[in-house]
Amino acid sequence: MKKIINDLTPTVIETFASQLRGRIVLPTDSDYESECQVYNGMIKKHPGMIVKCVDVADVIASVNFGRENNLLTAVRGGGHNGGGLGLCNDGLVIDLSGLKFVRVNVADNTVRVGGGNVWGEVDHATHPFGLAVPAGIISTTGVGGLTLGGGVGHLSRKYGLTIDNLLEADMVLADGSFVTVNASQNSNLFWAIRGGGGNFGILTSFKFQAHPVKTVFGGPTLWPIEKTEEIMEWYHDFLNSAPDELNGFIATMIIPGAPFPEHLHNKQFCGIVWCYSGNMQKTEEIFKPILAKGPLFEHVGEMPYPAIQTLFDGLMPPGLQWYWRADFFTDLGPEIRAQHLKFGSNIPTPLSQMHLYPISGAAGRVGKTDTPWAYQDAKYAGVIVGVDPDPANAEKITHWCKEYWKALHPYSSGGAYSNFLMDEGQERVQKSYKHNYKRLTQIKKKYDPGNFFSVNQNIKPGA
Ligand SMILES: Cc1cc2nc3c(=O)[nH]c(=O)nc-3n(C[C@H](O)[C@H](O)[C@H](O)COP(=O)(O)OP(=O)(O)OC[C@H]3O[C@@H](n4cnc5c(N)ncnc54)[C@H](O)[C@@H]3O)c2cc1C
Repeated sequence: MKKIINDLTPTVIETFASQLRGRIVLPTDSDYESECQVYNGMIKKHPGMIVKCVDVADVIASVNFGRENNLLTAVRGGGHNGGGLGLCNDGLVIDLSGLKFVRVNVADNTVRVGGGNVWGEVDHATHPFGLAVPAGIISTTGVGGLTLGGGVGHLSRKYGLTIDNLLEADMVLADGSFVTVNASQNSNLFWAIRGGGGNFGILTSFKFQAHPVKTVFGGPTLWPIEKTEEIMEWYHDFLNSAPDELNGFIATMIIPGAPFPEHLHNKQFCGIVWCYSGNMQKTEEIFKPILAKGPLFEHVGEMPYPAIQTLFDGLMPPGLQWYWRADFFTDLGPEIRAQHLKFGSNIPTPLSQMHLYPISGAAGRVGKTDTPWAYQDAKYAGVIVGVDPDPANAEKITHWCKEYWKALHPYSSGGAYSNFLMDEGQERVQKSYKHNYKRLTQIKKKYDPGNFFSVNQNIKPGA
């Protein structure tokens, strides 16, 4: 039975606070409620204490405090997780938002990033050097959570997932010890953190391989929702024979309003958001077959890489209600396409949508046991999100999302990308790691036998 912060004496709390450079936030503090907010407005959790760490020593002290006092302990990076796994009720939250730095090494195109950075900060720092690290599509997402789960985005087909570009990390383990992990040092742990989530410790810094990406050519193309089946069939064939430099995720969606032209507002579409990261002299040739499909609207062009990384930030501010469901898919056969048309024609609120992110090209060529990510052979990581600012619509968006997922799940690969799961139970976690789950449980047993790091897509310590 876990203790709660209220069980601790003021002296215990004061002694802990005196060990920190950062501050602790308690329910009696005036900023407590704002400190309990995460990106998903649907999440309402109230920890007993939030520790705002500013350095590795704070993280070590916090882990020791949580473990010695038997507290339920959550770790918060960017706070974007759909299920609110950066928070817990009553226990301790170790907040990493004060652990930020980005250092670019132009000698070998590597980048060191703090455990609490968000991706927009990394893009900002690498762009002047003409470099980029493959990551997700919204700039406020945390480096920590996204990387630990895998990391899909605009550069996945060219340079692989984020985990495929992780070279090294510094970690605080459950016993409070500090280790560096890479291919030759603590290699088991290094394997586990490339997809296994926050189950093995707290990452205080990451070292990534960056790649030469300065500008990209891309943006959205939209077709009327009635054309969903035709466009999806074409997209599947087209993308799978396209060069790795071309990425495009396909969506069913509504255009909610500005900056899109007025005649598109509040209509349902099948859309593709493209990102070409190859030779800018070839864009006309690459985009010719795309534009020949006659999109109702297109807004593709050359832009700095950070521009495509922030394209949707304004549409998706923090605090909206989000409900998530996900699965991997290997194809987009007729039954699947029919369900996308059906549910894409009945999107309940303007921001609710479905995305299929390609797991092909470089991301698909990684060996099936090279990292815990077990679905290199799936062609798409699919996600359905019910989104709306109004809590009164929470039931409506949740219902649509679950029904859409239920209709598609029988055609899926059986598991989902762990970063797209909410709280769906142990069986789903296990299926999402498939053949790699057992090895993860063994590593968990070695490094966290008491399951101290349990507020995550939890991997139980092996028997
Ligand atoms: C709007 C939006 C867009 C997204 N787009 C993409 C996308 O394009 N591609 C993609 O792959 N994913 C995407 N995601 C999913 C995203 O990867 C997950 O939500 C991820 O968990 C967010 O990480 P975070 O650090 O912000 O979250 P948090 O809520 O802070 O943490 C999530 C989990 O990671 C753990 N964690 C975080 N940092 C650390 C650390 N330094 N050490 C140890 N554990 C840590 C936490 O304990 C928790 O279990 C998106 C999410 C949102 C909300």
